[in-house]
Amino acid sequence: MTADELQPFLTGLAQRVMREDDWGTQADYIPDLAGIDPVQFAISVVLPDGQVLSAGASEQPFSIQSISKIFTLSIALGRIGDSIWARVGREPSGDAFNSIVLLENEQGHPRNPFINAGAIVTTDALLAGRAPREALSEILQFIRMAAGDESIHINRHVARSEKATGHRNMALAHYLRSFDNLTHEPDLTLGTYFHQCSIEMSTRQLALAGRYLAALPCSPRMISDAKVRRLNALMLTCGQYDGSGEFAFRVGLPSKSGVGGGLLIVAPGKASIAIWSPGLNEHGNSQAGTRAAAHLSDFTGWSVFRP
Ligand code: GLN
Repeated sequence: MTADELQPFLTGLAQRVMREDDWGTQADYIPDLAGIDPVQFAISVVLPDGQVLSAGASEQPFSIQSISKIFTLSIALGRIGDSIWARVGREPSGDAFNSIVLLENEQGHPRNPFINAGAIVTTDALLAGRAPREALSEILQFIRMAAGDESIHINRHVARSEKATGHRNMALAHYLRSFDNLTHEPDLTLGTYFHQCSIEMSTRQLALAGRYLAALPCSPRMISDAKVRRLNALMLTCGQYDGSGEFAFRVGLPSKSGVGGGLLIVAPGKASIAIWSPGLNEHGNSQAGTRAAAHLSDFTGWSVFRP
């Protein structure tokens, strides 16, 4: 797929999504995200040679929310390797991102690192030997290096806003702690988690940050190839919570969603793709973004199920 073929498609795709006028609803349980206009769209694609093609509001920063879970898991895998799997599983949950139901049956061992319970455990692991401030600066440094962009930052206002209403996550953290699967005070781990979720990036920055997951030659080396392969497997099976099967069916590429409306999508060896549209579907994944991803994979033929 050359840039000359892809750019006109992306420009047309952005126009088509605007016309389709099917946006879903923005996340309203985080007060700071409730006021965002769902009628927005952006897409960026990084090709193996490092060219970035974009359409729509690709320079507009948005809250990456759960997409941050990819970066914290990458750091945890790099730092403590396979010992993370003693604390969190690798199976899809078939439940909502913030669900608590499986935790009791499975005695505080979250199904996977992308549902909130699993991500809170991962962040807790990153806090070993580090103050929250140091862990956050490590997360930010990882993302800045992956994207090659020092301007990426945390929106502390969004973090405070989520903390004020984050009772579900507090319940999850305390519940994990009751099973001894949280080594720090729930407030400390959650404070770090809310701040990592509040990192803001544009689709351009996010697509650049995802180069290492697609193993593009233009990417800085972040983690080993073996770890990248495993991360992609988890993104395919669990990256969109209980919408993961449908996304694999429609798009066929590993991905991670966030309630800010972002999607990071990996076409291994071919492209790193970021899409943003803040209206969400019933699973908390971008509604227009998911549709755009399906159009893109139809047009390019990119799919892990197709050689
Ligand atoms: N910060 C959000 C939460 O914990 C992240 C959820 C998401 O993006 N799916 O609820």
